[in-house]
Amino acid sequence: MIYSPSRLSTFETCPLKFRFQYIDKIETPEEEGVEAFLGSRVHETLEKLYKDLKFLKENSLQDLLDYFDKQWNKNWNDSIIIVHKEYTPENYRKLGVKYVTDYYNRFKPFNQDKTIATERRITIKLDDKGEYKMQGYIDRIAYKDGYYEVHDYKTNANLPLEEYLIRDRQLSLYSIALLKDYQDAKKVKQVWHFLAFDKDVTLEKNKKELEQLRKDTIALIKKIEASKKRNDFPAQTSRLCDWCEFKPQCPEWKHLYKLEDKPANEYLKEDGVTLVNKYAALDSKYKKLKQELEEQIEKIKEALIAYAKKEQVEVVYGSDMKAKVKIEEKLKFPGKNDEQSEELKQLLKTLGRWEEVEMLDNYALLAMIKNGKLDTAELKKLKKFETKETSESVRLSKFSKEEED
Ligand code: SF4
Repeated sequence: MIYSPSRLSTFETCPLKFRFQYIDKIETPEEEGVEAFLGSRVHETLEKLYKDLKFLKENSLQDLLDYFDKQWNKNWNDSIIIVHKEYTPENYRKLGVKYVTDYYNRFKPFNQDKTIATERRITIKLDDKGEYKMQGYIDRIAYKDGYYEVHDYKTNANLPLEEYLIRDRQLSLYSIALLKDYQDAKKVKQVWHFLAFDKDVTLEKNKKELEQLRKDTIALIKKIEASKKRNDFPAQTSRLCDWCEFKPQCPEWKHLYKLEDKPANEYLKEDGVTLVNKYAALDSKYKKLKQELEEQIEKIKEALIAYAKKEQVEVVYGSDMKAKVKIEEKLKFPGKNDEQSEELKQLLKTLGRWEEVEMLDNYALLAMIKNGKLDTAELKKLKKFETKETSESVRLSKFSKEEED
């Protein structure tokens, strides 16, 4: 299998989707969202701009917008999905016009760099043997002042945070490819054009960062290959499921799709629905009962403790069960997160007891006191840290008359 940045991201987002798409190659109805449609038309228009410039043909803004409209009308069809029903295709077309216009006005006369290629398919060789190869498409490759540049046009409605872009794999992998393909390439700049915001973000990864990415990518490919051998592709649900074309086949959602086809009167009779409804009703009853019983037990426990105190007994007998009532005063020392912990730590270090108490483990310290491991002077120094806590417990066990005799 030839990997690509998007294939790797698909695996990371949901291994099952990866299997459906690239291993099972399940065919899904050709559906395109209006956002993807808009992105394609803007990409085509900017590709034309730079392709023509290579032949010294400078399009006017109007030429480009005419081309954008032509492409839009030629490709538009009624199966294109608009999720946000409050917007019409015209709203999206106008967005495209705005993106192209802003870009054109900002970069005209386009002499900031030299375009080397547009929409270039590249192979990314991750190792010398050629065992780990990937492919990708670069929107535009440019050259300027000894730098190569990878340009990527984004039509997203969200502007990603810079830390997200730092972690982004795609343009860094393209940088690795350019450094290998162009002998004179010493450095590669990564340039994202966020067209919706008329804003660019430029980053440059150093050799160490690219080397780390190369290793991480090989490790991820190995992980996918291992999943393939075990046929282990778990579903990973997320909000991205709403955009997943395999939702009707996915075991996480399949049942819901089956129910959608049923008329309302049959829906409630469906076996799965009936079982889940029964299960949920019993579960809720169980939780309610459990809570009520726990509250009752707590009240009786309090009453038993009060009874034991009043009668000055430690065991209270029932018909064939007995309750052992334990009331203890326990010593307590500051734990790791308590205010005095640092002071206590210093004292224990001074006393040479730090290792023995396993870094402020209350049990270890109390065991040392109980077992007489500390001398009087040490106990005296520890005194200021100790507090007392009353612990009350009730433990039930069986008893038999024979036991009594
Ligand atoms: S619907 Fe969600 S969980 Fe199922 S395959 Fe698609 S992304 Fe994965």
